[in-house]
Amino acid sequence: MEDSIKTKVVKVDPENIDYNIIKEAADIINKGGTVVFPTETVYGLGADALNENAVDKIFEAKGRPQDNPLIVHIAEVEEMYDLIREVPENAKILAERFWPGPLTMILYKKEILSDKITAGLNTAAIRLPVNKIARALIMESKKPIAAPSANISGKPSPTEASHVTEDLMGKVDMIIDGGSTYIGLESTVVDMTSSTPMILRPGGITGEDIAGVLGECAYDPAIIKSGEKTIPKSPGQKYRHYSPKAKVILYKGDMVNAAEKINEDYDKFTSQGLNTGIMSTAQTEKFYGNKTTICMGDRTKMLTISSNLFRCLRDFDHMGIDIILSEAVDEKGLGKAILNRLGKAAGEVIEV
Ligand code: AMP
Ligand code: MG
Repeated sequence: MEDSIKTKVVKVDPENIDYNIIKEAADIINKGGTVVFPTETVYGLGADALNENAVDKIFEAKGRPQDNPLIVHIAEVEEMYDLIREVPENAKILAERFWPGPLTMILYKKEILSDKITAGLNTAAIRLPVNKIARALIMESKKPIAAPSANISGKPSPTEASHVTEDLMGKVDMIIDGGSTYIGLESTVVDMTSSTPMILRPGGITGEDIAGVLGECAYDPAIIKSGEKTIPKSPGQKYRHYSPKAKVILYKGDMVNAAEKINEDYDKFTSQGLNTGIMSTAQTEKFYGNKTTICMGDRTKMLTISSNLFRCLRDFDHMGIDIILSEAVDEKGLGKAILNRLGKAAGEVIEV
């Protein structure tokens, strides 16, 4: 593996974009290089989706398994027709309603997209992001950009440029620092190849949102119950993911009971000499006294939790924590996506 690329790190203000930098980044994309850029979900590691050699560099930099297909990002809805064989009416409606935004649609692909991107599947994942830097880069390069999350495979996705430099310095050509991402979790992936849309990965656009427009929306049963006998339809969902160095235990059930059990276990692990940390919420912080705690956010404002989640996991690693005891959240709205990520990060789940 090549480990000695010179990585240029540049700051761009999304509200006052320096187009000279965007031009330079687009030039890198057009020459087959790699550029990390912010999106409204997490940071993405981008390359020209139509250049196989460039796409290879993404897999190499991330250490991503070849059988995990990539999302292709576009800047205008019409660009979808260059990449997709048939766009069903339902997909047109979702594009109209939720693009630009954190929604990725799985659709039958055209030949132009190589097997490298789609891991040999006859479908492709397409998204039109809302982040202004992301869109400016795609527009300027005049290419669809393949971009998975800009982390080493398996680690928590990056929500700040510092997370990206931690993982990918020396492995990509450019990193655009556009500040903290907004949602903090990857896009919703919805399979549009059958008549009922099916969510393969929950995200910022919820099943309720989709059903609100199309009348129905199913979930891949593997979303919450990972592992065991349920094989996810989305190849990426079968991998352990979002894992900090520390072991994560997830406590599901009533918030107060969970806090009680977490307090007990904290004392147990600490007495065993393990550096222990608690992921709490605004509603439960008070239960933990002066124990080592990071507050994920407010249960009544799920966006505060989603935007902080991956940063909390990384912060515990920076603190040298061995074991993270995390509360769960209610499985509704954005909570479904938060629980999905926590479930995948966790080595153990305890029902209280
Ligand atoms: P990432 O870009 O790292 O956020 O991951 C992209 C996600 O989309 C992974 O979970 C992939 O497995 C999923 N994905 C991409 N293409 C397809 C496809 N054609 N069918 C099903 N899932 C896909
Ligand atoms: Mg990822």
